[in-house]
Amino acid sequence: MEKDSTIPVGRFAPSPTGRMHLGNVFSALISWLSVKSRGGRWILRIEDLDPQRSKREYAEMIEDDLRWLGLPWDEGGLDNTGPSAPYSQSCRHSLYAGALAALERSRLTYPCYCRRADLMATSAPHRSDGRIVYAGTCRPAPGKTVTPPADGRPPALRIMVPDRDMAFDDLVYGMQRVNLAADCGDFVLRRGDGAWAYQLAVVVDDALMGVTEVVRGNDLMLSAAQQIYLHGLLGYKAPAYGHLPLVCNTSGVRLSKRDSSLSMQALRSRFTPEGLIGHIAFMAGIRPDPSPVSAAELAGSFMLADIKPVDSIIVPDV
Ligand code: GLU
Ligand code: ZN
Repeated sequence: MEKDSTIPVGRFAPSPTGRMHLGNVFSALISWLSVKSRGGRWILRIEDLDPQRSKREYAEMIEDDLRWLGLPWDEGGLDNTGPSAPYSQSCRHSLYAGALAALERSRLTYPCYCRRADLMATSAPHRSDGRIVYAGTCRPAPGKTVTPPADGRPPALRIMVPDRDMAFDDLVYGMQRVNLAADCGDFVLRRGDGAWAYQLAVVVDDALMGVTEVVRGNDLMLSAAQQIYLHGLLGYKAPAYGHLPLVCNTSGVRLSKRDSSLSMQALRSRFTPEGLIGHIAFMAGIRPDPSPVSAAELAGSFMLADIKPVDSIIVPDV
């Protein structure tokens, strides 16, 4: 059952594949402030769908870093506190399976036998972010037959998307228009190896956990359109989405684990929690100077609308 929530519910949904860096902390802080400034709740969900890359020790470090920053969560985390437990995606298979079954009943799903190389050969790169747009090779159509490969390899499952503009009002960037057919094509819900796709899992989790507001990096703007589409098909009310400028290094590249001087390990050795929060708040344009401040103090006056809708924020590699 979807939860009816009258107070804002936000979430931070890290993939435990490494230590957090300044970019992750920026998303966590702004998402926390956005709900805490309005008396809301904040969920910590562990997005450990990728068994090869996800490690419990990274999830433990993320929790430790959030505590150090003064960003407590009300629900979730590794000890699974709260009404929507479990909060680790690796423990939520049956919920994803239930949603997938509902989508299959809508007759909008179909098996896709394409291999990665086929996808690269037939798909067009998306005009703005280079992401590939699925060409619809396996999409059923009258008079068309798709022959499964002789090797018996299990197919991925895709969902058909409509060829029309959909609009949503981003809390930071304003009105967005996306044509899913042109911008991503039919997308995967479950991979051939049985792994759940991020898009399906995140929609089921945001809906069942009663999330009303998703705040995260703007690399996921197109995903918001995919997610709103799935929320609609599953009969859920989609949360509001607010995307944030990407935190980039001086080469203009989004921060990654390689920018080790901006990892939490390095940042904790140089800053106090308030020093780091003050620095990020200044960088985000919500404070006039980088003087130390706690997240709790910032929550008193925070408004998501104060975040400027620029593409990225450059931070010097120090
Ligand atoms: N697990 C995703 C990530 O760490 C975040 C997904 C989301 O916020 O929707 O990039
Ligand atoms: Zn295919």
